[in-house]
Amino acid sequence: MTETIERFDGVTIGEGSVEVGARLARMRRSAAAARQRKLFAAAGNAGDADARVTGASSASCRAAFPKLHSKLSAWFAAHKRDLPWRADRDPYRVWISEAMLQQTRVDAVRPYFARFLERFPTLRSLAEAPEADVLAAWSGLGYYRRARTLRQAARAIVADHDGVFPRERESLLALPGIGPYTAGAIASIAFDAREPLVDGNVARVLSRLFALDGDPRSSDAQLWSLARELLPTESSCGDWNQALMELGALVCTPREPRCGTCPLRAECRALEEDRVDELPRPKPRPSAIAVDLVVIAVVADGRWLLERRPSSGRMADMWQLPTIEIASGVGERAGGREMQADGERTASELSLERSNAPGARERSDLDSSAMGRLHPTRWPSGFDVRMGPELGSVRHTITRHRIRASVHGAEVRRATRSKQEHAPHPSFEWFERRAIDDLALTGLSRKVLRSQFLAILPALEDLRATTTRSSQSNPLAND
Ligand code: SF4
Repeated sequence: MTETIERFDGVTIGEGSVEVGARLARMRRSAAAARQRKLFAAAGNAGDADARVTGASSASCRAAFPKLHSKLSAWFAAHKRDLPWRADRDPYRVWISEAMLQQTRVDAVRPYFARFLERFPTLRSLAEAPEADVLAAWSGLGYYRRARTLRQAARAIVADHDGVFPRERESLLALPGIGPYTAGAIASIAFDAREPLVDGNVARVLSRLFALDGDPRSSDAQLWSLARELLPTESSCGDWNQALMELGALVCTPREPRCGTCPLRAECRALEEDRVDELPRPKPRPSAIAVDLVVIAVVADGRWLLERRPSSGRMADMWQLPTIEIASGVGERAGGREMQADGERTASELSLERSNAPGARERSDLDSSAMGRLHPTRWPSGFDVRMGPELGSVRHTITRHRIRASVHGAEVRRATRSKQEHAPHPSFEWFERRAIDDLALTGLSRKVLRSQFLAILPALEDLRATTTRSSQSNPLAND
């Protein structure tokens, strides 16, 4: 005999069968749909399947708003995190923190926020700073376009607003790099304007709270409309917006939300309908792109060789360890096989071999241009750089690019031809190790330089220099 586990709308359901489980789920959904139809009818929207958000903010739901406001505000006052950008409501600090927090975790942002504010304490100091200094202060946070547009927007505020931060949403939206979310955050948090915001946390909380399950591709406008309607009239909109985001960050998390301790559990439609795990419905994501790189660590006389990226495209003008893109493609690993130690072969030989390897994928334009720059005769002072075996590998993600970087040591040998014949490529430069920390360095190179397997490289270089000093002159000296 089956043990009874639930009574539902007068029907007893027992466990022990997948079919019964599915039936139970269907009944839950149909009961929820009936409840929603009642709400639509009350709001004059009966039968409008795409109007579920409107239904959520219908008259009967709107009646619950004051309760949501008081419960969430009390929870926020008691549980909000002590974050450095919450020390005051200065629009410059709010703006910098919001720009840094996009795509980046709070704990990762903390030290960057402090350093950035120390380096650029005012909007004018940011506007007057060279771009390279701003990128250097941003280095390691990734998504460098944010740093560039911060500086551009600071210059625009100085030029068009006499250095005073604009308060209106439209004026904020006209600034470089400021979209609806950031405009809403600055206007509501710094100026307490009645402006909504929707980020990933708010979207998740609202989707669950009101059991919104419309087409995720068209849900943005609906969420913004609901967020605007939800704004309190009696209390601070800035605090309300922050409270919603904080609930999403600490309680209504993407996985394993803490519904048992949630201040809004009595009002939560997804909890009532047992649909927390299925909401919000995921948006279709673009496929990941696998990228295989070879990164070359060259140390000579205690200095590291870096190259500057092209002045357009991704991470423009930033410094990186010399890098070759071997292959890229959607889905599986681009090279079609794991990379192996390659012994004493040049970058050109290595790349040629890999591009001919069975299963090798398309090579990008960037690949051939990088190879040109990394040809042995094009290194600084025309010195011949011989790649050594793989020291290790590093994985790195930039938006949808899944990068595997195979890191190789390299040996700098004397040039066999004159410097005049093979002028150094202008994008290469040697740096002391401690000077690299102050450069605008790509996140991948920073990660590689921090890797344990690279820590032995300077010691190996010292050993090599000692053993060859008598027979070989300084590779960095001019011929
Ligand atoms: S009850 Fe659960 S699902 Fe609903 S808002 Fe709270 S944490 Fe999110």
